[in-house]
Amino acid sequence: MKTAIVTGGAGFIGSHLVDRLVSERMFVVVLDNLCTGSWDNLAHHSEQHVKRVLCNVSDPWPSEDLPTSANLVVHLASPASPIHYRRLAIETLLVNSEGTKNALDAARRYGARFILASTSEAYGDPAVSPQPETYWGHVNPIGPRSCYDESKRFAEALTMEYIRQYDIDARILRFFNCYGPRMQSEDGRVVPNFVRQALSGQPLTIYGNGEQTRSFCYVSDEVEAIWGAATIDGLQGEVINVGNPQERTILNFAEVVADVGGVPLEIESQPLPPDDPTNRCPDITKARKLLCWEPKVGLRDGLEETFAFFRQKAY
Ligand code: UDP
Repeated sequence: MKTAIVTGGAGFIGSHLVDRLVSERMFVVVLDNLCTGSWDNLAHHSEQHVKRVLCNVSDPWPSEDLPTSANLVVHLASPASPIHYRRLAIETLLVNSEGTKNALDAARRYGARFILASTSEAYGDPAVSPQPETYWGHVNPIGPRSCYDESKRFAEALTMEYIRQYDIDARILRFFNCYGPRMQSEDGRVVPNFVRQALSGQPLTIYGNGEQTRSFCYVSDEVEAIWGAATIDGLQGEVINVGNPQERTILNFAEVVADVGGVPLEIESQPLPPDDPTNRCPDITKARKLLCWEPKVGLRDGLEETFAFFRQKAY
């Protein structure tokens, strides 16, 4: 049986990835400090398939809890919601620097394939649209989002250096906005906020004028791309955007959420957070070519699933 180590495997994307790895008959070791994740997300897995290790991946990894061999290391651990990475700013900087180094060192020791979960935030507030991987970005290095943006950029630089110096088989995925079941209701990102607000009869909070754009990728599509990056040979050193290229304004997104939720659209305007990117849309030409991948789940279908999950949680 093949073994994978997933940092952040108790989180939103991580736990869906763990489901996929287990369904592919892998044994999965999850390292997580539960700062934004929960073991509840893995409750349906037995210890025979998923080993849970409570630790901060920025600290030295507990060798007694690690497997003797591993084929794959996926480094997903990091707060990803703006309110969480603001609250945990230094922890975020560390998990993407020290934590990435620990994950790379583990991959090197095991001779394992390595996947870095990077982000569209590496492009900052982009001056080109859609964003291809060749775009270097437009990032405020000292602003309130820099703890996330710059540490992910550091993580990418470190990963590339491990490839150059140690020849490890690493790939970098830049995730754009992702959504679906198991997002925390208090996560603060636009999808859980709007869905929770629609379910509880509150107005949807739009920051700024709502003309800023995002592109929303359903979590099962995202996991399919990670699986491709884990299994396809010959991708060493490749940096690949993973996201849904259907770009829409936040105002339009609010309309779709209200419609799918079956509620009239009511809006409450709130101030735009500083450095909130004005636009974001992935160029996925490379993912199409190298991963034979593109998103399959439409926004309305993905939102139906997300509403169903949040309804179960009784909002
Ligand atoms: N946003 C909003 N209302 C909310 C939460 C977010 O209008 O209740 C906006 C936010 O300003 C941003 C977009 O929605 O322009 C996406 O925000 P999110 O926090 O989900 O992720 P980001 O893409 O900014 O990392």
